[in-house]
Amino acid sequence: APRRTLNFGAGPAVLPRTVLERVQAEMLDYAGTGCSLLELSHRSAEFMGLLARASADLRALMGVPANYRILFMQGGATSQFSAVVYNLAVDLAAPHDYIVTGGWSEKAAQEARRLGANVNTVFSTKATGHDGRIPPRSEWRLSADAAYVYYCDNETVHGVEMPGDFVEQLPAGVPVVCDMSSNFLSRPVDVSKYGVIYGGAQKNVGPAGVTLVIVREDLIGTRTAPGLVVPVMLDYKTCAENDSLYNTPPTFAIYVSGLVFEWLRAQGGVEAISGVNARKARLVYDVIAGHADTYRCTVAGDGVRSRMNVTFRVLAGGAPSAERERAFVAGAEQRGMIQLAGHRSVGGIRASLYNALDEAAAAALAAYMREFAAAPA
Ligand code: PMP
Repeated sequence: APRRTLNFGAGPAVLPRTVLERVQAEMLDYAGTGCSLLELSHRSAEFMGLLARASADLRALMGVPANYRILFMQGGATSQFSAVVYNLAVDLAAPHDYIVTGGWSEKAAQEARRLGANVNTVFSTKATGHDGRIPPRSEWRLSADAAYVYYCDNETVHGVEMPGDFVEQLPAGVPVVCDMSSNFLSRPVDVSKYGVIYGGAQKNVGPAGVTLVIVREDLIGTRTAPGLVVPVMLDYKTCAENDSLYNTPPTFAIYVSGLVFEWLRAQGGVEAISGVNARKARLVYDVIAGHADTYRCTVAGDGVRSRMNVTFRVLAGGAPSAERERAFVAGAEQRGMIQLAGHRSVGGIRASLYNALDEAAAAALAAYMREFAAAPA
């Protein structure tokens, strides 16, 4: 059998082995067509069928209410930074409330500002290096009349994940827009609390190339600011009216994502995987806490350490040491554990523990971390 590493990459990331085997098995002859799914029309009965199944499976997995549409879009999560402004701004001069907890929400706010929206920063953790220290609610600057309030549920680079009930703290009546790119389908979510949820697929869902957008129906095509013309590929209305088939969608990425949805349903769904994810994260955080002279978590805030992207520094003489981190990554690679280096903008180590990474892999990492900490620096 081909050698498979334990893949801790942040994205594109690990996929379930059974899904890859299924793709391999179906590569030359998809569903008796005698050709690959890669070679089939997006208007073929086979593709339209799998698109409908993928959509229905995602609806079942997340409990998406009937008054929400599921859209398969393109351009990555980054194009949603723009799409939310085009689709939901109402009035560019109205406050656009952004909660900034890391690099990705910062980029989203920046794009809104670039498109002319009046961005109001509710709070930002930038001054403390996005270390997860969330100011008390009394210091938040929420607007009652905001076009929407935006946050990122899991900051992939900084390792900050908002508590599952964070949405409850936002004003009722203002649509909540949430980037769930890196914790999509990793824990239960009450979709009815949101206006828009989106995520690039290439972390917890499937290959790069498709972006999942879940949007409340009454927000579609009703809130574009006067003077703004929505580029057609960013338009929720066009996408919804055409059932995500306005133009050629990323058929292969949707196919593989659909297989991952089937896999997740067979695992017991989001509730079950959320338990597994909590156990995996605990294995790694416990080693960090137990070896404070070797490891330091980069997230200082309470209750916001990501279950998906565990970010930490390796210390030498009590201070972060890039040299010791290189040794840590090299030692991991020798043991078949790959993609553990932190994002290039922050350095350090990042262990991504997405759905498709099993408990044994997290345990192997924890064991290596203990071994590394015990060895002389
Ligand atoms: N938001 C988050 C939370 C992300 O992790 C990423 C990608 N790492 C993005 C947005 C940007 O996604 P994309 O590369 O699909 O545009």
